[in-house]
Amino acid sequence: MQILLLSDIHANLEALEACLAAAPPFDFVANLGDVVGYGASPNEVIDRSRSLGKIFVRGNHDKAATGLLELTDFNPMAAAAAVWTGEQLTPEHHDWLKALPHGPLSLEGFPDVQLVHGSPIDEDFYIVSIGDALSPLLTLPTPLTFFGHTHLQGGFFANGSSADGFRPEYRTVGKAESVSLHLKPGTRYLINPGSVGQPRDGDWRAAFALFDTEAQVVHFHRTPYNLKSAQDRIFAANLPARLATRLAAGR
Ligand code: ZN
Repeated sequence: MQILLLSDIHANLEALEACLAAAPPFDFVANLGDVVGYGASPNEVIDRSRSLGKIFVRGNHDKAATGLLELTDFNPMAAAAAVWTGEQLTPEHHDWLKALPHGPLSLEGFPDVQLVHGSPIDEDFYIVSIGDALSPLLTLPTPLTFFGHTHLQGGFFANGSSADGFRPEYRTVGKAESVSLHLKPGTRYLINPGSVGQPRDGDWRAAFALFDTEAQVVHFHRTPYNLKSAQDRIFAANLPARLATRLAAGR
């Protein structure tokens, strides 16, 4: 099976379409949350995401846009985007988003895999460092966790002798590229496919990953997308301008 992993699309339709166009053939999509928030195409991105399948975990922005999370936890820019998103959502999309399941989610037929937005221990926790990753890596029974939330592509591993973080190393800054990670038996992983719609690892290209379950390989991908169109929609919606400009820097 080839599982396409999408996370943190953040209502960026152009980035989502570019990822789908760049993705190798896949059997199904697992979506790790934050379908909306920040970007200016929430309804279009929900429509497209739903058409791809039914495996979703909710993100904090999905909760914020539907009243499930207090906006006092958000910075002013994120809060403004959450309010705007909530106003734009069709009633059907609002109800769908509000009903998304809490992570971690197990994947039928794949007992070694779980899906979360933040951390398997707390859905809203940011796993940024190996220190953040150690507790879920060492204490939870599932050896492979796919997570999002940080918008940083890469992840963490632990085995009997060592534990560390890793980031895929790309050769260019503007072309479609992929980097493969061969999973080792006896090693536990937390893997982040990166953010489709608002990368923060200094690389502006849309990020996703493909998990080959038979070969036990995770292929990390980056792909350029129509950045200007995504930015123009944010400006036209009168969302905070920084939400558009940050996309060019990947920060
Ligand atoms: Zn996010």
